Order: sequence, then C-alpha cells, then structure tokens
Amino acid sequence: MVRLPKANALSKVKDLKINTEMAEKKMKMIKNIVEAKDLTKTYQMGDVEVHALRGLSLTITQGEVLAIMGPSGSGKSTLMNILGCLDQPTKGKYILNGKNVANLDRNDLADVRNRQVGFVFQSYNLLARSSALSNVMLPLRYRRNGHDLPQKKAEELLIRVGLQDRMHHKPYELSGGQQQRVAIARALVNDPAIVLADEPTGNLDSKSGEEIMDLLLELNQEKGVTLILVTHDPGVASRALRTVHLLDGRVQNEQV
Ligand code: ADP
Ligand code: MG
Repeated sequence: MVRLPKANALSKVKDLKINTEMAEKKMKMIKNIVEAKDLTKTYQMGDVEVHALRGLSLTITQGEVLAIMGPSGSGKSTLMNILGCLDQPTKGKYILNGKNVANLDRNDLADVRNRQVGFVFQSYNLLARSSALSNVMLPLRYRRNGHDLPQKKAEELLIRVGLQDRMHHKPYELSGGQQQRVAIARALVNDPAIVLADEPTGNLDSKSGEEIMDLLLELNQEKGVTLILVTHDPGVASRALRTVHLLDGRVQNEQV
C-alpha cells in the first residue's frame, strides 16, 4: 500500500519549497564568487622555504570590482595565480563559483580555469602571428563542447571594445591600448565568472590607461563579471569599490 502524506504535511513541504526558493533568490543576489580561506603557499627553494602566502582569507561577491595592492613580494601574483587556477595553495580552501578547486587534478583545474577565468596581463600576452580575431577566438578552442558560433561571439566582443576596424590586424599593427582591448575581449569570450587583471594599465600611457579602466568598468557593469585587479597605481585602485592591501602574504587591511 502506498502511504500518502497528510494534507498538513504536504502544505508544510510546499511552504518549505517557497522558503527555499526565496532564500536561493537572495543568495543569488549576493553570491560569493570567491571564497578563499587560510590560503598558504610555500615554495621550496633548495633547503629554504619561501612563505608567499601565510593564511590569507578573502571573500569576493559576484559583480564586485576589487583592487589588490601591496609592496613587491607581498604575495599578489601568487594570490592571482591561485585565484586564476594556474596554481594551487599548499594549504587552505578555495571555492570558485561554488566549486571547491583547492584539490583538483591538473586537467580538472585547467578545465575550471578555461570556463571560469579570464586573464588580462600587463604585457597583453597575445599571439604575435595571429590576428586580433584569432587571438580572441583562442580560448573557445579549448572548450570541450565547442561553441556554437565562436567567430560571431569573438567579433561581437571586438566590436564592443571598439576594434571593429582592426579585427584582422596582428598585434604589432596595433597600439598598446588596442592590444589590451584585444586581450580584454579574449578574457571575456568564455563568459567567465571572474576576470583577473594584473597591472592592466602598467604598460600604457595615462590616457590609454584611463580608457582601458573605463572599458573594464563598463564591462563589469554590463556583464556583471567580477573584476579583480592588481595595481600599484592609487588612481586605478580608487576606481574599484574595495581595495585589499597585502603584506607578507596576508591581508593587511581593506578599504571600502
Ligand atoms: P608580488 O606579486 O606581490 O610581488 P609574489 O607573489 O610574486 O609577490 O611573491 C611572493 C613571495 O614568493 C616572494 O618572496 C617571491 O620571491 C616568492 N616566490 C614567488 N614565486 C615563487 C616561485 N615560483 N618559487 C619560489 N619563490 C617564489
Ligand atoms: Mg607580482
């Protein structure tokens, strides 16, 4: 015999479902995209241990713009490498977009990186012999399932960053600011959860640098993509809503 729940119990189940849905909606509104807890990174250099991160904790919510500052050697690049799934912590927890990635194997880590992370580097890091369009399409090639219309997506992004007339130019035919625009389009092509930018304006004159920051902030607003940037420039940092200062592998203080 099938036992049916009593009406009362059924309505309770329904209430529970509604409450859960509401809670889920709220959670989505303030979702933590990065949850890093007690991150430690120790490099072994012969007999010497180098403690690059010493118990660093950081939470970043979806859609945030966060600047990371700190003196040379304070752990900024180490942290960016871990956040970007290029490297793993020696110890600690790292949850990226709901997935624990601290202990993944290399293949799975590369897969998460490709789907969830876009990188913008100080030196652009474009393939020298490839056109702007090929550079932007590159991350799509590594996707396991491929993409429906890779070229169209890449073209749309190049138009968005203002390079509609430069799609078939090679990097050496572009200015620094234009190359960084290509890099930004490439960083966004997989719809990543986070974009990591390490000194994105570091090689640019101040006007181009401002234009690149304007573009990054516009894209953050338009696409809701979380932007994490390392900078030495207080002017650049002041455009982020929150700045985290690192010192000796830890968060020294935060400014909002
Ligand atoms: P930042 O980017 O703030 O200048 P890093 O994260 O590059 O700092 O470096 C933090 C510390 O870790 C430094 O003392 C640096 O020398 C050391 N370090 C970074 N990468 C390595 C590595 N691959 N091997 C050994 N030591 C490293
Ligand atoms: Mg560095």
